[in-house]
Amino acid sequence: MIVLDPARLEAAMRRFAAIVGEDHVWRDDAARHGYKDAMAPRDAMSYAPRGAVAPANVEEVQAIVRVAGEMGIPLWPISRGKNFGYGGSAPRFGEVVMLDLVRMNRILEVNVEHGYVVLEPGVSFDDLYTYLVESRIPLWMSAAAHTWGSVLGNALERGVGYTPYGEHASKVCGLEVVTGTGELLRTGMGALDGARTWQMFPYGFGPSWDAAFMQSNFGIVTRMGLWLMPEPEHTLNLAMKFDRPEDLPLGVEALRPLKLDGTVQANPSFGNIIRNLAVRAPRSEYYQGTGPIPASVLDDARVRTGVGHWNFSIRLFGDKAINTINAEKVKRAFSALPYQFEVSEWNRGEPLRGSGSPTPSLAALGVVDWLGGPGGHLTFSPVSPFSGAEAWEQYTTIRGMYEDAGFDYYGGFTAGQRYLNHISMILFNRDDAEMTGRANALFSSLIETAARRGWGEYRTHTLFYDEVARTYGYNNGALRRWNETVKDAVDPHGIIAPGKMGIWPRAYREAQA
Ligand code: ADP
Repeated sequence: MIVLDPARLEAAMRRFAAIVGEDHVWRDDAARHGYKDAMAPRDAMSYAPRGAVAPANVEEVQAIVRVAGEMGIPLWPISRGKNFGYGGSAPRFGEVVMLDLVRMNRILEVNVEHGYVVLEPGVSFDDLYTYLVESRIPLWMSAAAHTWGSVLGNALERGVGYTPYGEHASKVCGLEVVTGTGELLRTGMGALDGARTWQMFPYGFGPSWDAAFMQSNFGIVTRMGLWLMPEPEHTLNLAMKFDRPEDLPLGVEALRPLKLDGTVQANPSFGNIIRNLAVRAPRSEYYQGTGPIPASVLDDARVRTGVGHWNFSIRLFGDKAINTINAEKVKRAFSALPYQFEVSEWNRGEPLRGSGSPTPSLAALGVVDWLGGPGGHLTFSPVSPFSGAEAWEQYTTIRGMYEDAGFDYYGGFTAGQRYLNHISMILFNRDDAEMTGRANALFSSLIETAARRGWGEYRTHTLFYDEVARTYGYNNGALRRWNETVKDAVDPHGIIAPGKMGIWPRAYREAQA
């Protein structure tokens, strides 16, 4: 690993301070350690950067990048640093300076007529929600499970939400990017001076680059156009619980045609029993023993609390008349299952809570204290084919591995249009070295086992970038070599997030060789 020379770092930090002001540059231990992953084991597994700098605008970002390039100081950009389960605000390794974009938090434009927002990295889901509601703008955002994080950062990492616009990366339209040489680039139609359709036509002229800046280290995104959903007239929610684990395949099969033909536009998520118990109470309320909770105990808890073994809801968004027809279609599709839907509706004008519009919430973060706390988690995210049999195989394989390693399986399957995101979390006690060691070992074997079965992850924790990237090895790593070729060309000094997604600049590859 390339280690930063202290004198050079010191000189660079002084130059950064001259750009952003002394108050926005940090070298002290408290600040540095504040960037470590708040959900990771409390050992050297999560890295503290050497320092941090927080610019207020794009000109300052450009100036910082130019200094960093000249002095060979790698930068790790973050938007709000709330990417929990995947590394939070932590860099891949410690020999970097954080480029903290949280001060760039302007909502630059909301276009009601054309349904989009243009925003900066520091805007959180909470900020956007508040702005839309207080300004009475009839557009809905889609949000991650907790609303603390950055709208822009989450879309760049391909986060998912639960409205019809829940595949966030697919709603991005037009980026402004600072390149590795400090130049300013606009993607798509934004490259045309005075462009009138930057946030409307996502492709531009020639190659499209928006997607290349997602989950990547090819540039620093300073501005994003994102489509927002017009507020629907009506939403209709159909909630169902399954009593048995083995009902999952039938549920998946029932849902697939409805996603494929667009009857269901949002992304329903089949959450398992522990995912639902954990939001109610810590594990000790259900079981005091060690090792994974036995099936019989889980079943008692299911009966006692009224949660299902799988819990999911299908929410329809749109005109009431159409939702009513589609609800009948959904009910018919699930009629082979011995359960009833619980139906609830929302009409425009009623309070938003319960409508399907995400409202500010940090509740999702509480579950990490399942074991009593201070809790942490690692999120494992393979993609599954949208098939009952294949989802079942993936579920039983992965759940079995969790339980063999002594962990409860906390997970669920979130439906895309043609795939399922199988998201499970290894929940551990951050202070228990034995347990966190087991969690890390389990994670590595999950990556390896999944890859052998043809299941790749769609996203992973900073610590496992290289391991996951290696599984995408087709044709002697052709994709990795392609990424490296692009990286070396667009970031010639190798200063933007070295190692992100397993993509290392040339100097680091040579140092590792
Ligand atoms: P959030 O607060 O939405 O969870 P983060 O700020 O934690 O998002 O970002 C997650 C990861 O995405 C970062 O570690 C970084 O690799 C990448 N990232 C975030 N913002 C940017 C950006 N503006 N430009 C380039 N990469 C970014």
